[in-house]
Amino acid sequence: MKCAVCSRKLQRAKLRYIVKINTFAAYDTFEITLDDLFKNYDTTIKKLLTSLRKKSKKALEEEIFKNFKFYLCKKCRNEYIKNPLGKRVKRLKKLKA
Ligand SMILES: [Zn+2]
Repeated sequence: MKCAVCSRKLQRAKLRYIVKINTFAAYDTFEITLDDLFKNYDTTIKKLLTSLRKKSKKALEEEIFKNFKFYLCKKCRNEYIKNPLGKRVKRLKKLKA
């Protein structure tokens, strides 16, 4: 097992870290009105199906959910937690000012 950043070999009994990242589509609650029940959705559904058929199963799954799991050494983990989203430092300083 190696650190995903620096490729340093990670030994089982030694301190190492796991980074798990789950991304999934957010949604808002949907309220169905009486008008919604009487609308004709044929065209909408056909367009949706057409667009879905153009995408691979994997691409569709990744639009909804994608997860990652990495092993990091202590040094790389300490760097990672300083900026887990990989934002540029200049931009972060500007936001904090
Ligand atoms: Zn490392």
